Amino acid sequence: MNRISGLPRMLAVAIIGALSITALAQSNPYDKFRNREYSNKGYLSEADELKLAEQVHQELLKQFRLVEDRSLNNYINSLGQRIARRSQRPNLPWRFYVVDDKSINAFATLGGRVYVHTGLLAATRSEAQLASVLGHEIGHIVGRHGLENVKRSQKYGTLAGIATVAGAILGGQTGAGIGELAGNMIAGGYLMKHSRDAEREADFLGLYNLRDAGYNTGGMVEMFEILQRVSQSSPNALGSILASHPPASERAANTRREISEHLRGSDQRGERDSSEFERVKPSAPASSKPPRKVRPRN
Ligand SMILES: [Zn+2]
Repeated sequence: MNRISGLPRMLAVAIIGALSITALAQSNPYDKFRNREYSNKGYLSEADELKLAEQVHQELLKQFRLVEDRSLNNYINSLGQRIARRSQRPNLPWRFYVVDDKSINAFATLGGRVYVHTGLLAATRSEAQLASVLGHEIGHIVGRHGLENVKRSQKYGTLAGIATVAGAILGGQTGAGIGELAGNMIAGGYLMKHSRDAEREADFLGLYNLRDAGYNTGGMVEMFEILQRVSQSSPNALGSILASHPPASERAANTRREISEHLRGSDQRGERDSSEFERVKPSAPASSKPPRKVRPRN
């Protein structure tokens, strides 16, 4: 009897052992991003990227409501600037906006424009957690992920007119046509739909942004744990953009691994919170305030 039950047990032990060795042998998924150099080479020039970013912003203003709370806007901007100045694009005119939307979401477009939903602010429990989200979005802009999407749309013709947008911008035109095309780019979701590898790269860059800005890197792990809990308990609360990222469990595991292999101790030191976060945070959820519509200025 023992010999019969012993065999499957031995097999199981052997299989589990082999699986563990395979897992150990797997390279760190962030290795491919290490020591990468970033530039606008092969994409729109930085000046044109900034022009397109403004057009895209004007289009977004037609679709979203921005929160006009001076203290909240000042807070998000100073927090974002603090992290962005330590990124690999420190000199961009970085702008951070709060979108009046209860879904848990954040996104970056181009040229230093980052948008955070009130729902995400409400879900965070510390400044380090919020900083990790901003670090990730800054990572998308450093990694030229939006520019890559513009380029890919041109190459594969997924959006007729992208080439026209780029051409018109390069030609110095700023007519309504470009705005319309920028709107199509947003409506089609082309600009912010990144590959999973681009998302991993933004996580990688964001983690280092967080550390370099003086934050406890554990904040990023905690943020992914929050997202993991929300995705299990109320997946509809996650905005479409965050929902399309790699699973939060994978993102948390990648972050933990990077900290233990390359940033040991960075989750034991650094800032976690601030009195400013505590002061501004309760006023963040838009649900408790009457919505204020921001109309486009054109
Ligand atoms: Zn992302």
